[in-house]
Amino acid sequence: MSARVLILGGTAEARALAAQLDDAGVPVVSSLAGRVSRPRLPVGEVRIGGFGGPEALGRWLQEQAIAAVVDATHPFAQRISASATRAAASAGVALLRLERPGWVAGEGDHWLWVDDLPAAAGALARLGAARVLLTTGRQGLAAFAGDGERWFLIRCVEEPAVALPPRHEVLLDRGPYTLEGERALIDAHRIDALVTKDSGGALTEAKLRAARERALPVVVVRRPPREDVATVRSVAEAAAWARAQASG
Ligand code: NAP
Repeated sequence: MSARVLILGGTAEARALAAQLDDAGVPVVSSLAGRVSRPRLPVGEVRIGGFGGPEALGRWLQEQAIAAVVDATHPFAQRISASATRAAASAGVALLRLERPGWVAGEGDHWLWVDDLPAAAGALARLGAARVLLTTGRQGLAAFAGDGERWFLIRCVEEPAVALPPRHEVLLDRGPYTLEGERALIDAHRIDALVTKDSGGALTEAKLRAARERALPVVVVRRPPREDVATVRSVAEAAAWARAQASG
């Protein structure tokens, strides 16, 4: 079996990396968690579902003759990254983290940084927000379930499976989003505050520009801490690294 590069995916960057490596003739296998029922699939070989923890992932890397791993998972996906770090070390396989830069506030932005979703719920209460656009994904929504003071427009890719606040509407949608669309959504629902994770990237940043235009406060959840792993910010850098690993 020829040595392949494993891309831990679930992001646009992971798909772009798979395409670049495939074009360059580097054999890749992309891995998805299987959370989304109709995922956007990368080109090349794809496997779907958890590995069963770090030890199982370490064994899988050896069995599959994986030459190198690029962890291109979402900035808020902590467990798979921790698992990859342990598995790569135990299997003696090189690991690189590809993580897009976070968002940076500009002039006219009113951002409140918080550490997690419960803190975001607290910030909304302090702001006195009444109608909130919640774009933090369907995991962790329970943090807002006890909030009967506000109405929430909950936008996520799949139907949430947890307790939700008493007054809400779920909007199933997936980016990329446009500035016009985000503006129209804010206006139509008379939104007065936005909650987001610091996901970074261009595909979902239009909401931040729309919030700036409408002078809305934005509660931004900080990225969780990560282990110290060699990290690049761009797909091009990750592709260059993976090509070198595959040929070496
Ligand atoms: P997580 O908490 O870090 O991972 C939970 C478990 O799911 C992991 O322990 C692993 O199971 C499995 N898993 C996660 N990503 C995987 C992958 N790419 N391939 C194979 N197994 C994977 O992750 P999460 O926050 O639930 O996110 C799941 C996926 O959605 C990630 O791949 C991420 O890139 C994508 N995503 C996440 C967010 C977010 O806000 N968290 C947003 C957009 C996309 P085992 O321990 O059994 O191996």
